[in-house]
Amino acid sequence: RSMSSLTIPPPAALLRPLEVPNRYLFGPGPSNVPPRVLAAGGRPIIGHLHPEMYEIMNDIKKGIQYIFQTENNMTISMSGSGHAAMECAVFNTVEPGESVLVAVNGIWGERVAEIAERMGANVHRMVKTPGQLFSNTEIEQAMAKHKPVLFFLTHGESSAGLCHPMDGIGDICQKHNCLFLVDTVASMGAAPIFMDSQKIDILYTGSQKALNSPPGTAPISFNERACDKMFNRKTKPVSYLLDMTHLSNYWGCDGQTVRVTLQCGALRHNGESWRQHKELAAYLYKGLEDLGLTLFIRDKDLRLPSVTTIAIPKGYNWRELLVYMMKNHNMEMTGGLGPSIGMVMRIGLMGYNCKKSNADMALHALADALKNCKKSKV
Ligand code: PMP
Repeated sequence: RSMSSLTIPPPAALLRPLEVPNRYLFGPGPSNVPPRVLAAGGRPIIGHLHPEMYEIMNDIKKGIQYIFQTENNMTISMSGSGHAAMECAVFNTVEPGESVLVAVNGIWGERVAEIAERMGANVHRMVKTPGQLFSNTEIEQAMAKHKPVLFFLTHGESSAGLCHPMDGIGDICQKHNCLFLVDTVASMGAAPIFMDSQKIDILYTGSQKALNSPPGTAPISFNERACDKMFNRKTKPVSYLLDMTHLSNYWGCDGQTVRVTLQCGALRHNGESWRQHKELAAYLYKGLEDLGLTLFIRDKDLRLPSVTTIAIPKGYNWRELLVYMMKNHNMEMTGGLGPSIGMVMRIGLMGYNCKKSNADMALHALADALKNCKKSKV
């Protein structure tokens, strides 16, 4: 066929210049990123086998080991969003028919439960209303009953605004010969986490929240216990793309060659970042309370510093408030997600956005929305 037999013309959209607006991303992520990170995305492409690429990958690996506080060799950054890491963790460590225990107190536990069910695991859910805690005793009782190979818990439950305590759970998992999997997509960089000393066997996060990076990469780490389980399985993982036998080889974690990569991670100091998020969150809580709003998580020590949830103010339509702020302040905040829809509104101030001037701007926009959106009598 000749070139003139093209029947589909080039789309007009591709002939126009790309327009992307500047917005205040004050929702639960993605978040705005610093100019130096945006500029890094404009560097030249190099080959995945070039020596400079090996160096960049090694630097990324060291950066992840630092933010995770782990010495695990099996530490990589995957291409894909946080969901890719969720699937990678479950697909590699669980075989069909095995028992998995999932703590569900918001959307993320429910998602992991579904992922595990889809690959044929025998899933047991511990369910609470969004934002509630699981005690170590409850966790241990469920573990003794269901004998899972994997237990999942969300550290930063972004749909509810809860930061779940982690201490002691790793010991319970070891006692019951179960792997401890923790999601820190919304909390990494904003709230303290210590993979090794908290005995977390598999930990993952995402790039686009408090880590100051664009969406699209997901750091993940497996300890020796997790590697033992995933590299001694009888069946192959259901996904080729997410198979850690291949990914660990790309990243040189299998003792063979170092290859391929992605760019991620612009967090330079963990302790400093945790402190900043905590202080700014306290400032935001005070401002919200001064506006007459109610924080959804009552105990301030359990609030997730990166994503704050407020109860929907009585008489207001939350969608109207959000649309008003987007239209008049060019600012994104969001409603709930999954089980917290209709219960909360969410304000995220994380990473580069974690600044007092941004909190003031968010409070101003909210005050303006509360003043100008109509309030029903019911
Ligand atoms: N887990 C948590 C706690 C999250 O907040 C998110 C993103 N909102 C995810 C997982 C999923 O990450 P992603 O959107 O990057 O797929």
